Amino acid sequence: MMRCPNCRTKDIGKLGVNSYYCWGCYIELTLENGVLHLHQVELDGSLSSLDDLFDEQERREGEAYGH
Ligand SMILES: [Zn+2]
Repeated sequence: MMRCPNCRTKDIGKLGVNSYYCWGCYIELTLENGVLHLHQVELDGSLSSLDDLFDEQERREGEAYGH
């Protein structure tokens, strides 16, 4: 089961093949080469990256899926 690296909820919705949405903290998650990229959707609809808040290990697929 996929888990949000930000709020640790399992309440993740699928948006597309490699993109997901977290209902816990309302961020968009994109899976790329086994690493999750996190984006916050701003009020004007633009995306701002949250990747800087997490190191790559935290965003790796294995971690996100809880092994
Ligand atoms: Zn979350």
